[in-house]
Amino acid sequence: MIVTNPLDLMKAAQKGGYAIGAFNVNNMEISQAIVAAHAAKQAPLILQISSGARKYANTKMLVDIIKSLADQYPQVPIIVHQDHGADFDICKSAIEAGFNSVMIDASHEEFDGNVRITKEVVDYAHGKGVIVEAELGKLGGIEEHVSVDEKDARLTDPEEAVEFIKQTGADTLACAIGTSHGAYKFSSDGKVDVDRVKKLTEVLPDTPLVMHGSSSVPQEYVEIVNKYGGDLSGARGVDESTISEAVKYGVSKVNIDTDLRLVMTAIIRQVLTEDPKQFDPRKYLGPARDEIQRMVEHKIDVLNSAGKI
Ligand SMILES: [Zn+2]
Repeated sequence: MIVTNPLDLMKAAQKGGYAIGAFNVNNMEISQAIVAAHAAKQAPLILQISSGARKYANTKMLVDIIKSLADQYPQVPIIVHQDHGADFDICKSAIEAGFNSVMIDASHEEFDGNVRITKEVVDYAHGKGVIVEAELGKLGGIEEHVSVDEKDARLTDPEEAVEFIKQTGADTLACAIGTSHGAYKFSSDGKVDVDRVKKLTEVLPDTPLVMHGSSSVPQEYVEIVNKYGGDLSGARGVDESTISEAVKYGVSKVNIDTDLRLVMTAIIRQVLTEDPKQFDPRKYLGPARDEIQRMVEHKIDVLNSAGKI
């Protein structure tokens, strides 16, 4: 079921010491696997769609897939979220397409510019019953068209965050807490700055925090990719135990995209290499879908969101 009260879901997670997994969707198989996993584990869910995914698959197509899955699994509360909305128009078009949550990412702007752009989206979205995630601070790494050099990455300052939420009215806050986007989180030590999470929660007790760049890049899948002709040497993600700890101290939404891509690619490579005569897409997309479901069920345990519906 696509929920009408997304903020209640976020606040329940914040107060309950668990995080809702926010998984990126691009196509039918990935969407099916994620929703089936959440039904099996009885966990609330955020399905998020990036601007790149909207271009790739068509916005209505993805929303219709989600609506269909929401009908098929009415017990799973689902938030439909625009990931990294770059400007007002992208957020507005997402809301018109049926999203009930948007992220406006103006974190590349100076503080005042970030406030101005975010507030414009908040005013519009709240009038439509839609919640807004904003970002303060800068994560390192690459996500679609956004690339931030390690030296430009900047962790979120708690005092600035209080002022930012006060001025914008944003519902949730994406904060830079030591993670970075992508599969190559090289210079990170794989740990989240949990002390910063604690401090942010202390000063913003009513604002659920969001962690981006939270894929753990499981080495078992990196090994499968590399074994079957790929080359992802050096790919490394965030330690899952440190994610669980951050969740305990106030992170209520955890974004996962890279791990989905990794599992899908690993299984497709394996099937096609082991069975070179295979050319039925269902024979490699099907096993990939099954494995994504298994991986997502594991993530639900990491986020402590099983049984929370
Ligand atoms: Zn992100």
